[in-house]
Amino acid sequence: MKTKQFKAESKRLLDMMIHSIYTHKEIFLRELISNASDAMDKLYFRSLTDEKVGMNREDFAIDLKIDKDARTLTITDNGIGMTQEELEKNLGTIANSGSLKFKNENKLEDDVDIIGQFGVGFYSAFMVAKRVTVRSKAYGSDEAYQWQSEGVDGYTIEPCDKETVGTEIILEIKDDAEDETYSEFLEQYRIQGLVKKYSDYIRYPIRMDMTKSRRKETENADKDAAPEYEEYVENETLNSMVPLWRKNKSELTDADYNAFYKEKFFDYNEPLLHIHTKSEGTATFNALLYIPSKAPYDYYTKEYEKGLQLYSSGVMIMEKCADLLPDYFSFVKGLVDSEDLSLNISRELLQHDRQLKIIAKALEKSIRNELTKLLKNDRAAYEKFFEAFGLQLKFGVYNGYGMNKDALKDLLLFYSSSEKKPVTLAEYVSRMKEDQTCIYYATGENIARIDHLPQTELVKDKGFEILYLTENVDEFAIKMLMNYEGKEFKSVSAGDLDLETEEEKKEIEEKSKEHADLFNDMQKALEGKVKSVRLSQRLKSHPVCLTSEGALSLEMEKVLNAMPT
Ligand code: ADP
Ligand code: MG
Repeated sequence: MKTKQFKAESKRLLDMMIHSIYTHKEIFLRELISNASDAMDKLYFRSLTDEKVGMNREDFAIDLKIDKDARTLTITDNGIGMTQEELEKNLGTIANSGSLKFKNENKLEDDVDIIGQFGVGFYSAFMVAKRVTVRSKAYGSDEAYQWQSEGVDGYTIEPCDKETVGTEIILEIKDDAEDETYSEFLEQYRIQGLVKKYSDYIRYPIRMDMTKSRRKETENADKDAAPEYEEYVENETLNSMVPLWRKNKSELTDADYNAFYKEKFFDYNEPLLHIHTKSEGTATFNALLYIPSKAPYDYYTKEYEKGLQLYSSGVMIMEKCADLLPDYFSFVKGLVDSEDLSLNISRELLQHDRQLKIIAKALEKSIRNELTKLLKNDRAAYEKFFEAFGLQLKFGVYNGYGMNKDALKDLLLFYSSSEKKPVTLAEYVSRMKEDQTCIYYATGENIARIDHLPQTELVKDKGFEILYLTENVDEFAIKMLMNYEGKEFKSVSAGDLDLETEEEKKEIEEKSKEHADLFNDMQKALEGKVKSVRLSQRLKSHPVCLTSEGALSLEMEKVLNAMPT
């Protein structure tokens, strides 16, 4: 038997494959399972036109087997298999994709989605295996062949015994080294976890014998004796197969959606709402998004990572794709599944993709619409949402250099002096008095404090509604908005409120003249501490108040002064 050499280029490429294309060696299983799924899709597709195949969709399955003593992991499929030539062509030439060829040559049905396209995934097996053996029998052939390789040094192909049509891939897992361990890939729970993570929505069952332990049933049990356990083996299907988001909305209940959320995103709480969209057009995708009912404990910290899971043909490509969400909606959880993403060769990262941008834009819009709907139809739920994530929306207005303000301004809530609850800017404006020109706001630590500020008393007394801003970011967001429907925001602490009638103004002027000496003396006494001392109409129950005349309110100055420089 002659060992064939990989072509020189192939050798270099293979070395590169094994050592640098993939950042996580665990993806080898995803690649091999995807290949098995493709092979079964091909035979299934064949069965649609060829009665002799004699197989239904339910007859296809992938079997995983761990042999710890032999240190092998075996992946078996009953797909279309490979002939001797195909073994040579597909596994002996890097970047040759039989699957891509198949996709191009056949007009595939909707329910066949071939995953392979680059012709490199198979070689990821060498990241964890010191030797790979592929035993395969092609559909329609009487002979079976075995391909074997230890990596860059080449491969052998020889006839072998194999009864059934399909392919069996045996990985001899590498020995642990000081800096790298491989034995984890012989642990059933690790393998189960990898199937769940990357291949949960492969359409065919992925099965494995799981060794479990249970309490032994003993007759006339002695109550005081320690319980006895026994091991037993159960063949389990590891993947859930049907992606929830590919089902029709009409088939699904809130309970289905919520259970999926809790399991997938590890939250004990029910989500506040879900958004399930399908889009066909400039971008074809399915998305299932959730808004949590509570902010995660690390939400307002640097540790929190935004992003949606990204799937391509049911295979997970990326766990947290940040580009799919704007920062101001970073609290959204969920996933996107799209068949027409341009993946790069490792299927780990996307090239800067136009498609991705289109999807992100569409998602932003549907999140915004859904929140607007919630605000309109279920105020209590919206207020709950705003309690958890309103701060992020306000940061969004402020951080976007005003770019996001139009998207967000109608989603904001501020506490109202007259309504005694959070209100929208639109609601405020709808209640404005005829002669009112601005939207008044007051800032402070909390509602009770603001309520007792001398500055607010007068404005309230004149019958105007005031928005109370209690978060540091509030006033920055307001400044960024500048106005709402042409109505400017004005702080009740600003110097030029202009609330007095002509008569009152005259009275002040006269009194100011009358007591000019007194004010001058006061100003001198407070030299350097205040800019000027004036008689004010603003005070009701308080003898004096501090105000500011610049662009910044006293509260903003406080925030700015507290910031590290
Ligand atoms: P890709 O899947 O992107 O085409 P791979 O390197 O993963 O590239 O696989 C190369 C080719 O080998 C596939 O296109 C397919 O033709 C063939 N192949 C791999 N695994 C199997 C399998 N289990 N059964 C049948 N053919 C396979
Ligand atoms: Mg592949």
